[in-house]
Amino acid sequence: MRRNITTTTNRKIQSKRMSDEVYKMRREIIDIIYRVKKLVPNMPRISVRVADNDDEVLGCATMKGHEMWITERSTSDLAVVLHEILHAWKGIEHDDNCKLMHPNKQLGVSDKELMDTFLTYTN
Ligand SMILES: [Zn+2]
Repeated sequence: MRRNITTTTNRKIQSKRMSDEVYKMRREIIDIIYRVKKLVPNMPRISVRVADNDDEVLGCATMKGHEMWITERSTSDLAVVLHEILHAWKGIEHDDNCKLMHPNKQLGVSDKELMDTFLTYTN
């Protein structure tokens, strides 16, 4: 199965309606945001929605628009959430040479590597 992270302002994935279950998934995304905020206190508020799963897309964001959508299977996926934060906050484009900003999710990258890479974009 292809595991893509695709970003577009014409988003293809649908937000899920809030329910107790969706609220819990959203909470997982927000927990990652809190981890990031401890390291990068100047990160602005980013609005977060849980989206339906999609065959190709794991998440999307509006570039520098401070909003992102994470599919329900990816709500605790550090690689996906950090990737979308960089789109939503900084407008960082895809980079085939970057483990975090590659358009397809890269497997086998540790949380530490992901966070260290993230921090190189935020300074
Ligand atoms: Zn992307």
